Amino acid sequence: MNDIKSIDKSYVAGTYNRFDVEIVSGKGSLVYDNKGNEYIDMGSGIGVTAFGIADDEWVKAVSSQAEKLQHMSNLYYTEPCARLAEVLCGRTGMKKVFFANSGAEANECAIKVARKYAAERKGEEYFNILTLENSFHGRTLTTLSATGQDCFHKLFNPLTPGFIHTPANDFEQLKQKVKENKCAAIMLECVQGEGGVNALTKEFITSVYELANNEDIILIIDEVQTGNGRTGELYAYMNYGIKPDIVTTAKGLGGGLPIGAALLSQKVEAVLGYGDHGSTYGGNPVCCSAALNVINRIDDNLLKEIKEKSKYIFTSLEGAKGVESVSGMGLMIGIKAKGNSSEIVKKCIEKGVLCLTAKDKIRLLPALNIPFDILEKAINIIKEVIAEV
Ligand SMILES: *Cc1c(COP(=O)(O)O)cnc(C)c1O
Repeated sequence: MNDIKSIDKSYVAGTYNRFDVEIVSGKGSLVYDNKGNEYIDMGSGIGVTAFGIADDEWVKAVSSQAEKLQHMSNLYYTEPCARLAEVLCGRTGMKKVFFANSGAEANECAIKVARKYAAERKGEEYFNILTLENSFHGRTLTTLSATGQDCFHKLFNPLTPGFIHTPANDFEQLKQKVKENKCAAIMLECVQGEGGVNALTKEFITSVYELANNEDIILIIDEVQTGNGRTGELYAYMNYGIKPDIVTTAKGLGGGLPIGAALLSQKVEAVLGYGDHGSTYGGNPVCCSAALNVINRIDDNLLKEIKEKSKYIFTSLEGAKGVESVSGMGLMIGIKAKGNSSEIVKKCIEKGVLCLTAKDKIRLLPALNIPFDILEKAINIIKEVIAEV
């Protein structure tokens, strides 16, 4: 057999409903299929390839590290891991970093830290964690339990106990649930990604922050999707003027290599001790070199550009034919169209643009450095398709 689609269908577990396209290469925000067709990549591997495909600087950071040392166990010190942790703390004011390999694992770490903190301070019965309806926190059984969308839970019971879901932007209900349950943490995304690209209100987030502070409940901000420049700030919480106790991130952090991180504030920096947590690959030198390159390039200039491109997308789509509303922040955009979003995404592929969906919306997560002319071309095609469908 030599047809990749058939081999994949025969041998790869059927958890992904793939589009009928085989991508073989790319450069920046352009990717190519096995037939030589070109596409503008408006999904960047679900917010992963922060600087696009095969970005020269990124490739250099990765390949030079791979030639030197591709892996060492966490029994020894390695430079990229230490330097990345230093940079992340320097840019956020956090005190310590635990490195994992994915978003779900970063969240697992955060949950363990919050539960141990609460168990030591208040007692082991303070294990509950409030998360929001429509949230997404990962696919491991515990992060699935945290995820406030029943469609992901079906037939995987029993889930990890101690997760309570409450509606987004309803502070009174959340406060009531904190009162009724012995809570270790509140965990939320500032902009719900998989849930439909919905930015939470400043009022809600500030109230939750104050409540968590007053009650000594750990506030975990899941920045797996929103982090690393995506919303126009290094981390989305920075748009809200709060200081989380734990920030988790992954997706764009490695720019295309698997890495996750849980950033720990002063309050919780010492909660985990020797042997409390670990990961064989965590802090891998190649992934950390990749992430160092990504983080160091997210400077004020780039963030400004992200905001400008965001503004351009909002202005050109709002009120366009067939567009009901545009949501999101920075280069994390949700489009509610009158037509069916899956159908629109399929038509966009035919016209050379790769988009994502989130719930009933079309979702855009282009590379942070997408050139303006390419972005403009993609938006025009998307607009055209939305107007037709
Ligand atoms: C994608 C995502 C996750 C899960 O990340 P994985 O790397 O797939 O484990 C968790 N939280 C949020 C907000 C995400 O968008």
